[in-house]
Amino acid sequence: MAAVRFEAVSKVYGTDSRALTDFSLDVEDGELVVLVGPSGCGKSTTLRVLAGLEESTSGRVFINDTDITDEAPSKRDIAMVFQNYALYPHMTVFDNMAFSLKMRKLSKEEIKRLVTETADILGISEYLERKPKELSGGQRQRVALGRAIVRHPKVFLFDEPLSNLDAKLRVQMRNELARLHSKLGATMIYVTHDQAEAMTLGDRIVVLKNGFIQQVAQPLEVYNNPCNKFVAGFIGSPAMNFFKTEISEGEILSVNGRLETTGVADGMYTLGVRPEDILVREQGQFTCSVEVVETLGNEKVVIGITGSDEQITARCRPDLDIRPGNELSFDIDMSKTHLFALDGVERKI
Ligand code: ADP
Repeated sequence: MAAVRFEAVSKVYGTDSRALTDFSLDVEDGELVVLVGPSGCGKSTTLRVLAGLEESTSGRVFINDTDITDEAPSKRDIAMVFQNYALYPHMTVFDNMAFSLKMRKLSKEEIKRLVTETADILGISEYLERKPKELSGGQRQRVALGRAIVRHPKVFLFDEPLSNLDAKLRVQMRNELARLHSKLGATMIYVTHDQAEAMTLGDRIVVLKNGFIQQVAQPLEVYNNPCNKFVAGFIGSPAMNFFKTEISEGEILSVNGRLETTGVADGMYTLGVRPEDILVREQGQFTCSVEVVETLGNEKVVIGITGSDEQITARCRPDLDIRPGNELSFDIDMSKTHLFALDGVERKI
């Protein structure tokens, strides 16, 4: 298999469309790294540069210490799976999967063996004679996966492969992909705008914004220690709450938790609180006016407005009797809060 290295890769489309700036990343052999960020942050560009479908403006790309920056796409031994499946409509599933092997002039027996074995892994053996239009979305995506796996490439690239599937199937395929990754032990780079997909799939997550890497870390590390306000707000659902906060003489004032801070200069900050760290209490220190209650079965998500007109989202127990218009009393688990300077960078409390 293969390790992948990006060294200070930048990509400018045309004269001034900066898609990626100074992107450096080491992906270990057998690792599944997820690139995540909002639409337009440079995720696809990163994959396309690695696959050789797009030329970088500067920087180098390596597979196993071999510089492949100027290598033709067909020489890179990389397989890419897209959201639109990109299957050949007139070919059967078998022929779709066999296509690249035929191009490589493998023997008929070898092709049959590889396709059958891969179809087995993916549970699509009974569809081998069907055409793509005779398959469901999930089955088509499995064929697209099969077409990549059958080649035994050095690296797998996934560009939002599940976004055309409905919510339930997406979760199912996500689990299958995770299983497949452990089974194949292959190096995979996976692109998504869906933070839940990133959290559940990635050995590590790379959070991107406007073509710049924000943070590279394991999912829980990103969740518990986001390096800035952007990452904090992007990872986690419902999203982290942000409150304007003043610190004076080492104590947070505006939420009167009397939280002591160390080494943080006095001034205005943003306090970040995850919805699960809002603790509903009979007599809490804070109140908000409830506007929306979402009943999810296993929990209620309560959205309210604070006295200082800031929106607040809390995750609460499902049996909580609360309705729009009620007042909700709560405490904040101060030990779990995050403090951000006005430039968005996290300050340790
Ligand atoms: P993502 O995959 O995160 O949605 P992309 O890598 O597709 O982001 O795009 C990053 C940025 O580069 C966007 O601002 C996009 O508009 C721009 N871009 C992408 N492809 C082209 C292109 N062929 N020509 C000009 N700009 C492009």
